[in-house]
Amino acid sequence: MTMTEKTIYALVLFDIPAIDSHVVMTSTDREDLEEEHRRQISINPDLDGPDHKWRIGQVTLGPGDTKHAVTERISAEIKRAQSLYPYWPTDPLHALAILGEEFGELTKEVLQATYERDKADWDRLETEAIQTAAMGIRFCLSLKKYRVCSRKKQHEQEEWK
Ligand SMILES: [Mg+2]
Repeated sequence: MTMTEKTIYALVLFDIPAIDSHVVMTSTDREDLEEEHRRQISINPDLDGPDHKWRIGQVTLGPGDTKHAVTERISAEIKRAQSLYPYWPTDPLHALAILGEEFGELTKEVLQATYERDKADWDRLETEAIQTAAMGIRFCLSLKKYRVCSRKKQHEQEEWK
């Protein structure tokens, strides 16, 4: 599936309002994706439960204001993070570690939502998604200021036999 196909699939499967989306869905797209959804449900009936609804599209954000609400939350998170940690690494590798830490936390939440539903927490998942986006933007804010640090000392590793 291409990224656009996945986005369309998510819009159908999770009932995310298509308003404000760059995705243009034809009736053929929708039919194909609904067929794919039915096929998925036949494989895994759990996918048809109400808990499978994507809460960003249903609860936290009102219909039609997805783009605005998401960008508002990301902006608020950037401001919060910058007030707590006004400095940002000049070395992009360390900056990337900060972004990677948030991505790791988001990965954990999505994995639990998928495979350990008793531990799933959609509010936490949303928070981690917003924090990952916020750190991605902070990474980009410093693109003109990065200085790659010198390569660190390396050593030969013991051969794995
Ligand atoms: Mg986090």
